[in-house]
Amino acid sequence: MMTTQELTEGLQGRILTGTDELLRYSSDASRAIPQGLPLAVLAARTTQEVAAGVRWAARNSVPVSVRGAGTGLAGGAVAYPGGLVISLAEMDAILSIDPGNRLIEVQAGVVTADIDAAAAEYGLMYAPDPASYRQSTIGGNIATNAGGLRCVKYGVTTDSVAALEVVLADGEIIRTGSKTRKNVVGYDLTSLFVGSEGTLGIVTGATLRLKPRPAGTAVTFRATFPSAASAGRAVTAIMNSSIVPDVLELMDRASVEIVEKYHPTGLSTDGAAILVGQFISPASEADATVASRLCKEAGASDVDQAEGDVLLEARRVSGKALDARGLRASCDVAVPIARLADMFEALEKISADENVAIPTFAHAGDGNLHPSVVIEDESAEAYAEAERILDLITDQALQLGGTISGEHGVGSLKFASVSKQLDPATRAAHQRIKNAFDPHGILTPGRGV
Ligand SMILES: Cc1cc2nc3c(=O)[nH]c(=O)nc-3n(C[C@H](O)[C@H](O)[C@H](O)COP(=O)(O)OP(=O)(O)OC[C@H]3O[C@@H](n4cnc5c(N)ncnc54)[C@H](O)[C@@H]3O)c2cc1C
Repeated sequence: MMTTQELTEGLQGRILTGTDELLRYSSDASRAIPQGLPLAVLAARTTQEVAAGVRWAARNSVPVSVRGAGTGLAGGAVAYPGGLVISLAEMDAILSIDPGNRLIEVQAGVVTADIDAAAAEYGLMYAPDPASYRQSTIGGNIATNAGGLRCVKYGVTTDSVAALEVVLADGEIIRTGSKTRKNVVGYDLTSLFVGSEGTLGIVTGATLRLKPRPAGTAVTFRATFPSAASAGRAVTAIMNSSIVPDVLELMDRASVEIVEKYHPTGLSTDGAAILVGQFISPASEADATVASRLCKEAGASDVDQAEGDVLLEARRVSGKALDARGLRASCDVAVPIARLADMFEALEKISADENVAIPTFAHAGDGNLHPSVVIEDESAEAYAEAERILDLITDQALQLGGTISGEHGVGSLKFASVSKQLDPATRAAHQRIKNAFDPHGILTPGRGV
């Protein structure tokens, strides 16, 4: 039987093997269930420790799962039975800020919000802001190519990554990208590692691009629609106009009802869907007025406008409200912007055909939807039924030219659905890349692609 003696001796004080600790590091925030306890957790503090852990795992053919904060929703960080968990959470140093070049250099375990706070001291910001940004690590964001509310204007994580330090499956340490704005030397390995979900290498450090913090007054608008499809048409109109929202989010009636029960914000449940958008710029008042007009033209019955964040509150608490409502299974599909209305119509049809509520909130400006199926009990049958309905939703998104994951990644939960999106030749090309970086298949095996 495999023992951890050699590992413990080589990485003094960094190896956890207590049952409570192993349990704590076994699962993530998803509904994926660990199949058994790992052998050990490496709570790394340096890149060299990560490399030593990977070399040990490679020598002993031990599967490795990589972990930031464990807020992932796709089961990617769940431990393997008898495996090694490599946790980056303690590699949480901000190494340098270079305001002249709008760059910040960090270790992989830094919490996303701390990067933005450090940038704010220089009037800058780290733009990608997943709703989990007070817990999630930048390594996890990079591995999942995380999105967030501000991403409709500033792009998702990949658009903010300039360079990476990565430990490969044989323990080699490589550096990708550069600090320059332009760079065409070699393949774009930085982009390859972003979104690779711990399957190609372990990100230990990153150089990130910062943006100036937006100046001007924040003006928020909120529009109520008679159907989610008409709200979808408004989103398409706004995203095809010359105004660029800082935030553009949608909640359907079922999610509004759940939010209002959890944390009343005065939202009306009269409409079928609510669209909330924000502009922050010297022209924000005028831009919000244009957006309000486009909403009315698409059929909005009611449009409010206000300064500040108050109209966004309901959207911010929607994830927590759904969790508080009870067990649920949700997905993370995305469709091209011009197909949003079709996707909402399809959701209504699935809900009616299957006689099940599908509360949906969406990073609408990015065409990214989070439909949830509420599960009434914890039985395997109830989960299987929810998965069946989520599959119908996923198939519909694919038919509209969409994707099975807009921001959470494939992880273990969506692994079986990858072949619905990637044809055999494309999937084989992915496998060749995987084999080149990880020939013995020790890094996050059987997940991602
Ligand atoms: C309440 C809530 C709200 C959320 N909102 C959003 C949202 O708005 N947008 C969004 O995109 N996601 C969201 N998420 C999902 C999750 O927070 C993101 O996927 C986040 O990027 C995960 O970061 P983490 O540090 O927790 O990673 P983990 O959960 O620890 O890991 C996630 C994946 O990344 C891999 N990984 C982690 N660190 C590294 C590393 N250093 N090197 C290589 N691979 C690594 C893991 O193996 C795993 O596959 C939300 C989750 C919750 C619970």
